[in-house]
Amino acid sequence: MSTETTTWSTAELRKLRSKAVAWYVQHGRELPWRATSDPYAIWVSEIMLQQTQVATVIPFFLRFLARFPSVAILANSTLDEVYQHWAGLGYYRRARQLHQAANAIVQEHDGLFPKDFSKVLALPGIGRYTAGAILSFSSDQRLPIVEANTQRLYARLLHLSAETTSKESQVQLWSFAEQVLPKQSGSGQTNQALMEIGSQICLPKNPLCAICPLQSLCPTFSSGRHATIPAPKKPKEFTDLEEAALVIRDRRGRILMRRCAADERWAGLWDFPRFDITGYSGCSSVRKRLAELFQERFGRPVLIGKELHTLKHAVTRYRITLNSFEAQIEDGHRTQWNSAIEIEWADQDPLAELALSSSGKKLWMWLNGPG
Ligand code: SF4
Repeated sequence: MSTETTTWSTAELRKLRSKAVAWYVQHGRELPWRATSDPYAIWVSEIMLQQTQVATVIPFFLRFLARFPSVAILANSTLDEVYQHWAGLGYYRRARQLHQAANAIVQEHDGLFPKDFSKVLALPGIGRYTAGAILSFSSDQRLPIVEANTQRLYARLLHLSAETTSKESQVQLWSFAEQVLPKQSGSGQTNQALMEIGSQICLPKNPLCAICPLQSLCPTFSSGRHATIPAPKKPKEFTDLEEAALVIRDRRGRILMRRCAADERWAGLWDFPRFDITGYSGCSSVRKRLAELFQERFGRPVLIGKELHTLKHAVTRYRITLNSFEAQIEDGHRTQWNSAIEIEWADQDPLAELALSSSGKKLWMWLNGPG
């Protein structure tokens, strides 16, 4: 069985391109961001599509563009407004960086989306793939792209059995992504076509080789090694964390929410006061520890009451057990809130008012759920 990587001649690359584009013209999906050459709209779609499925993104994309139709309007909006239109897509860091980048475009590029690759790459939240995608799709620049779908497709077209994440493999994949592009015009369409084949035909587990337009050229189809090319990813290693959220009500029944700081997970979003209690969870000293942590951070003494609910969730490489406790600010103390922390007493549905962290939202829904 051959483990050799395939080299492509110029003539084979030309054939590959023309087969991919011909298939795409006939079978490519009509997606709202494909009907425009506006780099701003393409940029928004690319950021939304990171970690989110196409079908989920479509309504969010249309609503977002209706509310923020230009870079200038996005830059002039508050981050909370942007979060409101992002709610439901998750991974809010993307929204924050989109907002930061819009401000950078207004300040440094007179509000016009830059056309120069290095300037696009310098914007917050934009990496090599996204910069290449925006510029090749919007202005047909000859820029290679490698994302999850093309990475898998190119690994198979190269018969690349090494881990795709290794430095050598990345060099090979990006080099192939460049070689495959036409010398003259048509790079945007070629990139789109190959991405579409990667996502719709060259599927991770059971690629649809029988209907693949590239079958006659594909070394992985010939070797039958699509189960091991690309090499399966190593399972993710998780770190377990134990955290506690405090549900603090005032006399009117309003609940204390606070904005997550810039160096925290979910920076800029709203959440219950939350603390790392790894090593204390289930111990008799957990309440004392929580009261200390709350006073240190918020500046006010607190009485911790009964335990309410436990949520389990995963964020990036962390597997988190989130316990929640009732708590009350202790009366009779003339203490001040730590002014560095932004707080709100939520007396109505904060889901409509505040952009909550995902676990904050789950806890709020549990508190207000039936029964
Ligand atoms: S023939 Fe099969 S493995 Fe090769 S590119 Fe097409 S779908 Fe992928």
